[in-house]
Amino acid sequence: MAIDFSVEPEFQAKLDWMDRFVTEEVEPLDLYFRDTVSPFDRTNATANSLVRPLQRRVQEQDLWACHLGPELGGPGYGQVRLALMNEILGRSLWGQIVFGCQAPDSGNGEILAHYGTDEQRERYLRPLLAGEISSTYSMTEPQGGSDPNYFTCRAVRDGDEWVITGEKWFASNFRYSTFLIVMVITNPDVPVYRGSSMVLVPSDAEGLEVVTDVGLGSEPLGEGDHPHLRFNDVRVPAENLLGEEGSGFKIAQTRLGGGRVHHAMRSVGTAQRALDMMCERVLSRETKGSLIAEKQAIQHWIADSWVQIQQFRLQVLHCAWLIDEVGDYAKIRQHIAGVKVATPKVLIDVVYRAMHAHGSLGVSNLMPLAGMWMSGPIMGIADGPSEVHKDTIAKQVLKGYAPHDGLYPSMHLPTRIEAARAHIEARLEHEIANL
Ligand SMILES: Cc1cc2nc3c(=O)[nH]c(=O)nc-3n(C[C@H](O)[C@H](O)[C@H](O)COP(=O)(O)OP(=O)(O)OC[C@H]3O[C@@H](n4cnc5c(N)ncnc54)[C@H](O)[C@@H]3O)c2cc1C
Repeated sequence: MAIDFSVEPEFQAKLDWMDRFVTEEVEPLDLYFRDTVSPFDRTNATANSLVRPLQRRVQEQDLWACHLGPELGGPGYGQVRLALMNEILGRSLWGQIVFGCQAPDSGNGEILAHYGTDEQRERYLRPLLAGEISSTYSMTEPQGGSDPNYFTCRAVRDGDEWVITGEKWFASNFRYSTFLIVMVITNPDVPVYRGSSMVLVPSDAEGLEVVTDVGLGSEPLGEGDHPHLRFNDVRVPAENLLGEEGSGFKIAQTRLGGGRVHHAMRSVGTAQRALDMMCERVLSRETKGSLIAEKQAIQHWIADSWVQIQQFRLQVLHCAWLIDEVGDYAKIRQHIAGVKVATPKVLIDVVYRAMHAHGSLGVSNLMPLAGMWMSGPIMGIADGPSEVHKDTIAKQVLKGYAPHDGLYPSMHLPTRIEAARAHIEARLEHEIANL
């Protein structure tokens, strides 16, 4: 198959428009609302009055909620075009909101579109897609995140209701959300991958309690957007179970596959921004009689960063292209896992170099670099730690190999030389006999 990441001139014109629009209209929102308003807070009147007109301009360009396929009312641009869009959005926190593709609302919307009832779609999906409400996706539990075998949050059927009991952890944006999609165990007698289901829970459901708010990095204790939740016999109607009972993980995989590629491409944008900052700074400041840009150590860092970004960008685009070509996340899971594993490494390396090259200014709160660097470790944990995704890659890679019989491996030199000698001597005998 020929690999082609090019886009037609009409779509390139849209990307050029988007590039300018994000610089001129969206990045200022990041600065204006910095530390005061979360992009997920849909109740802030000032933010709404500024964001809504921008969202309309995005809609006029046919660039709104582009993660949705045509069957769900989206433009169906495919993953390569989405990746190129996300690369631009990686420069801004508010970008995803303005373009209607923010996680976890994007994945939650897809689940509701596929599995929600008409009433649920009208009540939750329509305002979610219109950018009027936020949502939460809640799977991780306090005692176990990477391994679902430790999940214990249960839903038990009682008449025409499900009763949910248990705890969840890092339920991001809960404080701004109107509803959650929660992974619950509906059948504890079978392996968790067959005994778990997804359930829709209104955020104001009776019995749903915030144990504590959890923040990131240096946010003050007791504050933050990733709470520890407790479900005290929370009751929801039977139809709030999304999809078939026991299909929770199948649904989860569908929503995470594309999302990982979008996160990765936004990280390309973040890493490129860090390299831009580094280059500008080292060309602007001298030490020991020459520009910092003239120090060989710094030049190597610039080269290493450029190479890493190029490799990573091509890897992500290739994965996006594969999704478009193959159309089945399960068949290319090794590529999606590869992108997930590469993301934190590139961010951590490239942003660290940029931060260090800025000296004290780089680690200070006068520059965005420390916050950008933190996105590296976060990307290594959120949606599952790198080790788990490396396990996936290794298992898939190993499927292409078989054990070799005998004491020595197939590339054992003495064995191969002996075989080659026998083969060549037989040929020589044949050639001489035919002279
Ligand atoms: C910013 C952020 C937002 C998040 N938002 C959400 C959200 O909205 N909803 C939600 O449900 N969850 C969310 N999470 C949680 C996230 O999915 C979990 O943190 C993640 O799955 C890891 O689980 P854990 O934190 O319990 O780590 P643990 O499971 O305790 O793992 C700790 C460490 O153990 C090691 N490890 C784990 N498994 C293996 C293995 N198989 N082999 C070798 N080493 C291993 C790794 O080093 C890993 O980092 C979010 C996390 C972050 C950081």
